[in-house]
Amino acid sequence: MKKHAIIPIFISHRGCPNDCVFCNQKKITAREGDVKPEDVRNTIEQWLTTLADIETVEVSFYGGSFTGIPMEQQTEFLKIAKEYKDAGKIDAIHLSTRPDYIDVPILDNLKAHSVDVIELGVQSFSDEVLKASGRGHDAACVYEACDLIKSYGFTLGIQLMIGLPGDSEETCRYSALETVKIGPSIARLYPTVTIGGTELYSMMERGEYAPLSLEEAVQRTKIMYEILEDAGINIIRVGLKASEIMENEIGFHPAFRQLVESDIAKDRIEAQLAVLPDGSYSVLANSHSFGNIYGHKGANREYFTKKYPRLILKGAADESLSDNQYKVIPAV
Ligand code: SF4
Repeated sequence: MKKHAIIPIFISHRGCPNDCVFCNQKKITAREGDVKPEDVRNTIEQWLTTLADIETVEVSFYGGSFTGIPMEQQTEFLKIAKEYKDAGKIDAIHLSTRPDYIDVPILDNLKAHSVDVIELGVQSFSDEVLKASGRGHDAACVYEACDLIKSYGFTLGIQLMIGLPGDSEETCRYSALETVKIGPSIARLYPTVTIGGTELYSMMERGEYAPLSLEEAVQRTKIMYEILEDAGINIIRVGLKASEIMENEIGFHPAFRQLVESDIAKDRIEAQLAVLPDGSYSVLANSHSFGNIYGHKGANREYFTKKYPRLILKGAADESLSDNQYKVIPAV
């Protein structure tokens, strides 16, 4: 039985006054149109008919800037979600927004409508990166918003991007470390996708921006992932979903999370093999991480076979291990 289901409701921010260089909202909005309150109700009703065996259900308003839309509209949407929560048909209300769209009246309204989780599109803690990306807010604004959200008792999420203009391995590491200092419960890591028609795409055409190679994006994300994971932050997403019309865009990979986690597996397995004599070994992992032993499309198997010709690598399941924990033992 699946434990948790999310009912996604995309709220576009039509008329957004910001100019994030990577923004593709116009493209998505053109495809999906504006959501009306009755659409929220219909979406919830439709999903509920398919979720009979689910333990917890969350309604999630995503799209980036829920609290940037007019307050009356926020209230119209939230009233409907709250009605379902009060009736026990859903368990949580989740939304995402920008750090500069957080203040006391906004949070009072969210609290009054039983919102549980607020995710902030922080993207970077480097002021230079935020400026070069046209975000329209600085890092100081992020700290203030996070403090305020936590003071209300909301569950806080932080979203970070990898490979924005001006970004480097150092700024990525710094952003992850600052995130740990704030201590959100959840995080998402998004490699930057350079979408046709955006300012970022034009910057690339003018030679002012170079998208990361896949290897660089994986490497930087891996550093951030391990920092957040070590701090006990639940990383609920790595990379964009294929359904987000990204398939053919520069920087999109449909299995990005697996690439990152498999690279982490490679490092962790190799650190143990390095101190063992040549031979036949089994690698234990829990069922969630098991596939990472071999890597995306068998990349780790290929790597280990080339580097350790006498190694016979066998995976075995051990549910006592945590996610991303690997134990190398002599093969039996
Ligand atoms: S806040 Fe940035 S990403 Fe969001 S809609 Fe506005 S310009 Fe686009």
